[in-house]
Amino acid sequence: MPQLLNNNNNLNIKNIKLLIQKYKSPFWIYDADIILKKIHLLKEFDIIRFAQKACSNTHILRLMKKNNVKIDAVSLGEIERALFSGFNPQNGEIIFTADILDDDTLSKVVDFKIPVNAGSLDMLEQLGKKSPGHHVWLRINPKFGYGHSKKTNTGGENSKHGIWEPNLALPIIKKYHLKLIGLHMHIGSGVNFDHLQKVCQSMIDNALLINQKISFISAGGGLPIPYTFDDQPIDINQYFKVWNIARKKISTLLNTNIKLEIEPGRFLVAESGMLITQVRTVKKMGKNNFVLINAGFNDLMRPTMYGSYHYISIIPGNNRKINEKKTIDTIIAGPLCESGDIFTQQEDGTIQKRRLPIIEIGDYLIFHDTGAYGASMSSNYNTRPLIPEILLNKHQFKVIRRRQTIQEILNLEK
Ligand SMILES: *Cc1c(COP(=O)(O)O)cnc(C)c1O
Repeated sequence: MPQLLNNNNNLNIKNIKLLIQKYKSPFWIYDADIILKKIHLLKEFDIIRFAQKACSNTHILRLMKKNNVKIDAVSLGEIERALFSGFNPQNGEIIFTADILDDDTLSKVVDFKIPVNAGSLDMLEQLGKKSPGHHVWLRINPKFGYGHSKKTNTGGENSKHGIWEPNLALPIIKKYHLKLIGLHMHIGSGVNFDHLQKVCQSMIDNALLINQKISFISAGGGLPIPYTFDDQPIDINQYFKVWNIARKKISTLLNTNIKLEIEPGRFLVAESGMLITQVRTVKKMGKNNFVLINAGFNDLMRPTMYGSYHYISIIPGNNRKINEKKTIDTIIAGPLCESGDIFTQQEDGTIQKRRLPIIEIGDYLIFHDTGAYGASMSSNYNTRPLIPEILLNKHQFKVIRRRQTIQEILNLEK
């Protein structure tokens, strides 16, 4: 749920104004309290594993570790982030999940004995040849999908993720004496509990098909968060109950104790984050009212990529009071030399005007719920440096990533 900038919340107008003075916009800010609350909501699961790609800053990872959250890595870089943040690779604190293994990543998981959640049979072959006895999971494609956009669908024939015929993994596992420890499905059913039942049934069917004494099942990620005031927060107790029934059934069928993991990204961090930007021009294009800010889709990619919605609040750059009653259809755009650089658009790219109070040059626009897939998806497009990340923890603000310099970008090309 978007956190309004009032004094009931840690991130309020006064704090944000101080940060703007000190660090200049644009920047990201995260509220650690919100992350802790979200972790707490998942306490019934045996293991919470943070899908770090949602927000991979090592300070956030350390916060997770401190609160007993384990970590998922989907690249060599993310493995290095996890190690750097103090996660112990030996006791399953880190899992590598992917559909391919490149040579460097293969060496790393072998050297550090990091369990591999395999999304293809070829990965099992490559790993088995180098590392007999290695602990593996199977990421299963349940042959159907779900997802808030075509680009986030993670199952079915049109998805590249996971193993289609998990029973074909068994001969490879046997050949190389790999140790199968878990089954994984990352589908995410949102708040659709009929669909979730289907996913759980598929997990049960696959566990039976494979019929090995595994130790874990993972419900994957994909838990939604309410981006609008109308969105319903997910009933996490119900979500747990449905999965827990599946866990118990599988325990009975395989006659072994099974631990239930969950692997959220967005759910843990999205609501903790805001993107702070400044309005640099307000201009009319025919009948349209364009407001252009100093952050682009190189900073916040989601609206351009999926047409995602972020609640926007306004902090006046001068002393006027915002008149909430007097609103106007507004298009919010960034500075990039690219027409898709628009924060108010639908999934198919159609511009979607937002009814907002009158915005003036110099005002600050705050994009809410940008803690997930915000900073971690940023790029240097248009040679724009990565912007700072600031963490509010126990009433202290800390810069957890400084602004990149243009010189640092140029240095790569020396
Ligand atoms: C991205 C991803 C997640 C997290 O997805 P969210 O929608 O952010 O919860 C979990 N597991 C895997 C394997 C992923 O690729």
